[in-house]
Amino acid sequence: MKIRQLLFLVFLISFFVKKVNAQNFNTDKLDVKVEEKITSILNSMSLEEKVGQTCQITLASILKKDTDGKLIEPHQIDNKQLKIAIKDFKVGSFLNVSNHTFTIEKWHKVINQIQEYSKLTKHQIPIIYGIDAIHGASYIQNSTLFPQEIGLAATWDLKHAEKMAEITAYETRASGISWNFSPVLDLGRNPIWSRFFETLGEDVYLVSEMGKSIIDGYQGGEEIDNYHVAACLKHYVGYSVPESGRDRTPALIPNRTMEEYHLPPFYYSIKNGALTVMVNSGEVNGIPGHANKYLLTDILKEKWGFKGFAVSDWEDFINLYKVAQTDSTLKDAIATAINAGVDMSMVPNNPEYKTYCKLLIELVKEGKVSEERLDDAVRRILRVKNKLGLLNSYVKPNIKEYESFASNEYRQAAYNVASESITLLKNNNNILPISKEKSVLVIGPTANSLNCLNGAWTHTWQGVEDKYNNDFPTIKDAIKSNYSKVAFFEGSKMIMENGDEKDLQTSDLQKAIEQSKFFDVAVICLGELPSTERLGDIYSLDLPKEQQFIVKSLAKENIPIVIVLVQGRPKIIREVESLADGIILAYLPGDQGGNAIADIISGKINPSGKLPFTYPKYNGVKMHYDYKQSEVINGNTWKNDFYDPQWDFGFGLSYTNFEYSNLRINKNILFGNDKLIISVDIENKGELRGKEVVQLYIRDHFATISPPLRKLKRFSKIDLLPQEKKTVTFTINADDLKFYGINNEWIVEDGKFSIMIDNLKQDFIFKN
Ligand code: BGC
Repeated sequence: MKIRQLLFLVFLISFFVKKVNAQNFNTDKLDVKVEEKITSILNSMSLEEKVGQTCQITLASILKKDTDGKLIEPHQIDNKQLKIAIKDFKVGSFLNVSNHTFTIEKWHKVINQIQEYSKLTKHQIPIIYGIDAIHGASYIQNSTLFPQEIGLAATWDLKHAEKMAEITAYETRASGISWNFSPVLDLGRNPIWSRFFETLGEDVYLVSEMGKSIIDGYQGGEEIDNYHVAACLKHYVGYSVPESGRDRTPALIPNRTMEEYHLPPFYYSIKNGALTVMVNSGEVNGIPGHANKYLLTDILKEKWGFKGFAVSDWEDFINLYKVAQTDSTLKDAIATAINAGVDMSMVPNNPEYKTYCKLLIELVKEGKVSEERLDDAVRRILRVKNKLGLLNSYVKPNIKEYESFASNEYRQAAYNVASESITLLKNNNNILPISKEKSVLVIGPTANSLNCLNGAWTHTWQGVEDKYNNDFPTIKDAIKSNYSKVAFFEGSKMIMENGDEKDLQTSDLQKAIEQSKFFDVAVICLGELPSTERLGDIYSLDLPKEQQFIVKSLAKENIPIVIVLVQGRPKIIREVESLADGIILAYLPGDQGGNAIADIISGKINPSGKLPFTYPKYNGVKMHYDYKQSEVINGNTWKNDFYDPQWDFGFGLSYTNFEYSNLRINKNILFGNDKLIISVDIENKGELRGKEVVQLYIRDHFATISPPLRKLKRFSKIDLLPQEKKTVTFTINADDLKFYGINNEWIVEDGKFSIMIDNLKQDFIFKN
């Protein structure tokens, strides 16, 4: 055997051995050696050290302050406070950066300084630093910013989800941070909720699949190297459906809905090896997320076998006492949360964290929290630290090893995600694409704002600060580089007043109206200001009247209109929808959004995004695509036409046409353990290359629990040249037909089912 062949064989064997040895963190047996190492650390740890490991504080709590308690600029670590936190209180975790975005160099300085202090502790265990890098490493200057999750979901492309996470992990790790508070796996089923944009949409299957790919990208498999981070699944569980629509207010979730909708995305990502979860800040059925032993311990840890740790959300131990009022003292609240199964407390301020540590020490001494429970929490935290190489010593990142940071390749990847997320909702008379010879009047409050393209959690928490912005074109700028005759007007502007968005008509609207006769088409960019959490609570989903007025005024001038919506939740546009020929939904597409939108407008990109939620037509009616027969009967028409969204889940147009034909199944009766193979042909009938999302839905015709009329079960995004035809094949089995039955168990019942792809349908019978 030649030497090259031998080397190749050695490589193959070692690759294979690595694969075989790679253990799934949550589903395989624990690594005995690691557990022994942790046991020996635990055996020599004091109670104070153990409690410290469960304590997470914010960077601001150790920064220098002026006499009024304000952080001194530029931010500097107060060594005295740092020493107290790490040496005296033995704090094991830090998070965030308050209202700043640091350069990589500044991050290195901050983290190295903190890690240096961890060497002063007996076991010298480095701290674990967590950050919200939810659409790119958004707290590092010049990082690559992707669309927010709602846009990512609209690509319906798992490769994009993995790539986004991989690049975010790489750039985050470049700063020395190895823990990302992402992805959000809460279902986006309440569009008015301020964090709707942080979700992957309304469908349980789409969210679960995207979630798994994001975990692959963040963690990079079982062995986490220096280019990957620990993921944190948020916010376990039921956080996204507050009855009132306002953030952190109570949700009511029947057990069946919990099992069928809210738990699965978390379950699949746990099975895919996710290392941490963050707990729901709100309450479900009267039980605060942080007090819910059943969900945290019985389901997550015992039933699913989760071996990582659960971190609280912001101040949520304190909130059990202060907000939920399920405990009458802070001390009781701490006991409740730890005993329910929360392993780390994001306290996160000074002096609150000191009180937390003192009270937890007392609780253990009094036997109100057992040492065993505390040991379990610390063991879980150390297990994750071990995975991240943080059990022995902290290895400082070397900037030279992160040459791809902010590279053109990464920018291109973000552009690709943005351009494949943007969803064409209307295109009457083929108004789009607009040919380059045409003159374009650009107007609207989101036309010239990089902040609006990025949304919250960008450079700062609410994303409204612009001093850290990267130098990328806004929509207006990008349109200007694509067309020779462009004029720009604001039309209206959005300001924050007392925590609410206020829209104001601007004086240039009149000029725009007058000028409109000199232009071929008006591109009207509408939407909302960035916001999240309680600051993003709103009273109505209606698009502000000032924004609608721009459309109505220009429509009177008979200029053809294209509306571009830059928004994190679906604003109601029923009254102006008919006035536009073209409507583009951009979601919050990130730094590359301006270019991507302009390239869709000019036809350089053929749109392929599909709605990951049902776009409502009315403010007061919540609609989801997986509705039941009982929801469609209309008392006014006595027809089954009540389901009447503005646009359906899964909808999105292209500049070409796809024809579906020949839906076939390999059998008409599916027995218990068998598989059903489904294929369908899709042909590109137009002149342009295009991507199409093939969506497979199943209908269970009769079931003991009233069945939805369709559920998404598979999808695949394909690329077709003009006149090209492809066959897409899917396989399903009995698991895909299951529901949470009358006896509170997952079952599948015999009977008639339909497979539906586009407007084709095939029936089959299932027999157990
Ligand atoms: C949010 C979390 C976030 C945490 C840390 C909380 O207020 O609910 O999603 O990860 O803050 O910033």
